[in-house]
Amino acid sequence: MPEVPVTPLLDGRALAERLRVESAPEVERLAAQGRRPRLAVVKVGSNEAAHSYIRGQQRGAERWGIEVQVTEVAPEAGERGVRRALKALNDDARVTGILLALPLPPGMGARTLQHEIDPRKDVEGVHPENLGGCLYGRYGLLPCTALAVMALLEESRLPLRGKEAVVVGSSEIVGKPVALLLLAQDATVTVCHKFTADLALKTLSADALIVAVGRPGLIRPEMVKPGAVVIDVGINAVPDPTAPSGTRIVGDVDPSVASRAAALTPVPGGVGPVTVAMLLRNAVLAARGLPSSDDFGQMPLFQS
Ligand code: NAD
Repeated sequence: MPEVPVTPLLDGRALAERLRVESAPEVERLAAQGRRPRLAVVKVGSNEAAHSYIRGQQRGAERWGIEVQVTEVAPEAGERGVRRALKALNDDARVTGILLALPLPPGMGARTLQHEIDPRKDVEGVHPENLGGCLYGRYGLLPCTALAVMALLEESRLPLRGKEAVVVGSSEIVGKPVALLLLAQDATVTVCHKFTADLALKTLSADALIVAVGRPGLIRPEMVKPGAVVIDVGINAVPDPTAPSGTRIVGDVDPSVASRAAALTPVPGGVGPVTVAMLLRNAVLAARGLPSSDDFGQMPLFQS
């Protein structure tokens, strides 16, 4: 008998809730020592997408028992103003985590500004020092979406050692760190991108297929090996006249792929909620203090 597929749909909301429950004792322990995690969100200007992102983070953080403060920077203050605000938060001992709300006003470089955040407070895990941790197996504050992908793969119970893993999308914050974390789990990793000549040829070889592109319906059932675990990172708004907003959110993977895959993450309700949970979990880890570099490399990936 072939091995029976495990879970057809990987429930990201349930996993996010479990991560919250697992972190709760640590949050209470820190609070009892007067060190409750405190996340500073830097908001530049008044962009509606940034507003709703901050509201979402605030709601999530409250449930986790994490304090949130919002620092507003006027767009006229420019990148220098944002740098100044970030430096003040880096130097503020009460602030244990820092998040720069995106999108920024036109003309401001998100990446270079994120690099101004103290790596020990970088809850998104996007500072070069933290991204470098993926390369060296030094697990500090890792990029939250990549962590979410790995946690969902763990949920699927697919043993990664020796398996073929294909990552579609090679961005700095998703595709590349995911590829490195998969390598760290001894998978054989192929990374595809917009210049990959025959995408289906690659994806068909995948035991674990991770898709992070931003193109609805890119992955169709005939591109998926029967029994593969498929993680859909994509978030795309597509027109839907029946929805009150006129749009709905879909991933990069056609939902009919569920008929071939052993397990698939839904969109919404898959990678998204786990990414938020991983950011909050990073906020707890940052407040606790990261291990000394001597401990790096010995930590299991998801040790709390
Ligand atoms: P990005 O634009 O930085 O990178 C996209 C990648 O896709 C690039 O490597 C590009 O080469 C590749 N690509 C483009 N067209 C392709 C094609 N036809 N075939 C194969 N590869 C192709 O995007 P990103 O920031 O990595 O985000 C990717 C998607 O993931 C977006 O939909 C984004 O909204 C979503 N996302 C979701 C979460 C989450 O929490 N669920 C977090 C981050 C990003």
